[in-house]
Amino acid sequence: MEIATSISEGLARNVLSASYNGEVIEASTPLQVDGDLVLYTWNDTEGKKAFWHSSAHVLAQVLEEHYPGVKLTIGPAIEQGFYYDIDPSDHSVTEKDFDEIEKRMIEVSREQHPFSMRSVSKKDALAFYQKEKNPFKTELIDNLDDGDITFCDHADFTDLCKGGHLPHTGFIKAVKLTNIAGAYWRGDETKPQLTRIYGISFPKQKLLKEHLQLVEEAKKRDHRKLGSEMDLFTFSKRVGQGLPLWLPKGAALRERLERFLKEAQRKAGYEQVVSPHIGHKELYMTSGHYDKYGADSFQPIKTPSEDEEFLLKPMNCPHHCEIFSSRSWSYRDLPKRYAEFGTVYRYEQSGELHGLTRVRGFTQDDAHIFCTPDQLDNEFKAVIDLVLYVFSSLGFADFTAQVSVRDPENPDKYIGKVEDWEKAEQAIMNATQEKGLNYVVETGEAAFYGPKLDFMVKDALGRSWQLGTIQVDYSLPERFDLTYKGSDNALHRPVMIHRAPFGSLERFVAILIEHTAGNFPVWLTPDQVNILCVSEKYEKYAKKVSELLENNEIRTLVDNRNETIGKKIRESELQKYPYMIVIGEKEVSESVVSVREHGGKDHGAMPLDNFIRLVENTIEKEVQEFKK
Ligand SMILES: [Zn+2]
Ligand SMILES: [Zn+2]
Repeated sequence: MEIATSISEGLARNVLSASYNGEVIEASTPLQVDGDLVLYTWNDTEGKKAFWHSSAHVLAQVLEEHYPGVKLTIGPAIEQGFYYDIDPSDHSVTEKDFDEIEKRMIEVSREQHPFSMRSVSKKDALAFYQKEKNPFKTELIDNLDDGDITFCDHADFTDLCKGGHLPHTGFIKAVKLTNIAGAYWRGDETKPQLTRIYGISFPKQKLLKEHLQLVEEAKKRDHRKLGSEMDLFTFSKRVGQGLPLWLPKGAALRERLERFLKEAQRKAGYEQVVSPHIGHKELYMTSGHYDKYGADSFQPIKTPSEDEEFLLKPMNCPHHCEIFSSRSWSYRDLPKRYAEFGTVYRYEQSGELHGLTRVRGFTQDDAHIFCTPDQLDNEFKAVIDLVLYVFSSLGFADFTAQVSVRDPENPDKYIGKVEDWEKAEQAIMNATQEKGLNYVVETGEAAFYGPKLDFMVKDALGRSWQLGTIQVDYSLPERFDLTYKGSDNALHRPVMIHRAPFGSLERFVAILIEHTAGNFPVWLTPDQVNILCVSEKYEKYAKKVSELLENNEIRTLVDNRNETIGKKIRESELQKYPYMIVIGEKEVSESVVSVREHGGKDHGAMPLDNFIRLVENTIEKEVQEFKK
């Protein structure tokens, strides 16, 4: 804080937290060795994190006051706000109490209590929570090393905490508690159920107001609501939770997305393959996926007599490795690029399921590239081109890239040769720079088997979604003993790239619905033109118009119901058809169509050919042809 003050008063007023030599500290932490200092304000993710984490402390304090005898567990900051999990003991915690709790939180905040950290011995820490009869905190402390345990105090409240707070409570000017949910202790279904209270807080009242407006807009755009209103997909308890059923319109939309990507992939030199939905347990033991998706996921399917065990496919990669190893390859044959819209199944706890974004069965737009280390550079660039093509064709203009590389201080954590890693990381960096991407490098975020590039897109409401991953892999080629014959006639290991521009069709469609509020690009929209008859007697002309449009690959519907044209237009607006054509006396006698766009723009009457060109031009602007 002294350093901030020496820079400027304004900065000092806005500093929320800091990091020193990469470690999170408080603005009040004395600096005792030379090092690198980063100051965080509300505009930094780290600043918000300290803000929301500190707010969780205030919430915990007020909950203890409000519900005497509750047991506190953990209270972290999350992407949007914070929560605290409590064992309510015999209290019933309801949203009715939120107003009062919020008010009390603001009172505490106004008193500007400093947050101060202190070290506690393991013995004293355990004694503190044993006295409070809190088995959760004592379990947490049991797992900590003596010497590593710190408490945070503010006002007369104390919590076990690693640190990262605001200077004092006075920064918190607006609080909203948003939700109550059940949560298991340590996320484990076999452990006690706790009550989770979610909240969000801000340094200005105005920011809270803006946030609540965005939340309202997000509710309107919720893909579960729009998906059902637009007849895209449904769920059935009988079929099973987290297993989406695609309705005809949704299935057609999916198919168009698949066709779009397949066409681009064909031009980029991919070959389609098909693999089954189950695989032998041994396959996933070999690939290492059994460790991740075995015991805690769907259990093996057993054959009646031969006692074989099969697993629902959690990943397509092992299958594609076996396709690669089905014959021998020379370096001249590489790269091989195998693509598959492969459906995979992973168990998710029922509480974690959410519309199409968290499901138990989903289809990845998967592909695996097997190449020589020298080809990695070009392959990576080509994949970036494909991902950018997908984003631009679907209206995602705002995105950043994240390059995840090794932690150079822990080389043992990673498999593969150091020189290969260096080459791969350099290839990713070169590619991102050459493509002019706005990117950040995250050291130590690489998987043990290879570095990766992730794309984060911002949707229309400013929310970030991870879309599109490109991952280098040295592990699977090793595990599956994949080889090719090099120019030296010796056998070499290929490098593998996993990539999925959409991620999964389910999640992608969900994000697209929320991003566009259901107003898809015209090329993708299930029904592009709704033809509305003013009365039944114009049905014949309407059908003819529909036929001509369909012949030009424009998807149409005819509404010849005996309803007023006003009602038909209103319903059509709700269904979000991009174009409406009105057919009445004038249109029939003058051989024209009257065109309205979704959202109210009236194009008036025009010959049908002009309308066809209007639609075609719009689509051409939305989705260009993929050029290699
Ligand atoms: Zn804390
Ligand atoms: Zn893969």
